[in-house]
Amino acid sequence: MSMATTSFTKKSLGLETAEPAVTPPPASNHTTFAKKPKLGTSKSKKREIPEGLWTKCPHCSTMVFDKELEENLKVCTHCHYHFPISARERIQALVESNSFEPMDTEMSSVDVLQFTGAASYISKLAKYQQSTGLKDAVVTGIGKLGEQQTALGVMDFSFLGGSMGSVVGEKLTRLIEAATAKRLPIILISTSGGARMYEGMFSLMQMAKTCGALAYHGQARLPFISLLTDPTMAGVMASFATVGDLILAEPGAMIGFAGPRVIKDTTQAELPPGFQTAEFLLDRGLIDAIVPRKEMKARLIDYLNYLTAGQNQPVLA
Ligand SMILES: [Zn+2]
Repeated sequence: MSMATTSFTKKSLGLETAEPAVTPPPASNHTTFAKKPKLGTSKSKKREIPEGLWTKCPHCSTMVFDKELEENLKVCTHCHYHFPISARERIQALVESNSFEPMDTEMSSVDVLQFTGAASYISKLAKYQQSTGLKDAVVTGIGKLGEQQTALGVMDFSFLGGSMGSVVGEKLTRLIEAATAKRLPIILISTSGGARMYEGMFSLMQMAKTCGALAYHGQARLPFISLLTDPTMAGVMASFATVGDLILAEPGAMIGFAGPRVIKDTTQAELPPGFQTAEFLLDRGLIDAIVPRKEMKARLIDYLNYLTAGQNQPVLA
């Protein structure tokens, strides 16, 4: 269950910005140094290239102009591959401008187990807090989608593989409890390697805690939409992410519990093609709909309106 979250680094997903095969004509005037031809050595050190010009699509290998990619909500303009997107970018793409009020922004993990592997947990936390500007792997708060006030929890894979430790669990639980008290619908957007191994059992407890809070939210007859994005695995998949009234996924998202290699080794069976993709799980009824990122906001608003119809009237005692 505690996946080796650190193996899901940005690099292993093949998403580092690569140099374009052809130099874009007028983009820069830095022609002082002639470019050396590419050598086939895989060991060549990472090149110093200007940030934010082109990104190679890991799916179709097209070089996509970064500006175009941003405008397209980080979906490949050629093959519609959905690139990873930060929690902040996702929130910005969904809520009405200036409507989002974040909660518990300063909550940060304590190293209860004094965990030390290749590096100490404390140093890992510091590193990811620095690189992401986040205190932990989820951003929570209340914002407006269309006319609907909504409790929104969005995970960020770039913080320790989106792993769920006590902070992710606690922030989500507080969000869910606030939504129940204020009678708001909840949307949780997951991307995670699973429970955070650095916090051991404390991470596993978050599975029950978040689901418990969601059960009370459900008893109050309030809707919860779960959106699974690439990848949603292990302890997150086995807890709050799969108890939505509606479970949505982005196209091509990898969704599952244990990784395919572990399952293959354990069962000694050939896995069917497309195993653990959103499309495979849609076919088998685990998820309700696959929604492209560009349509996400409009579809979520439709679903919210449908699920909350009649709920915004004053409750008669
Ligand atoms: Zn592509």
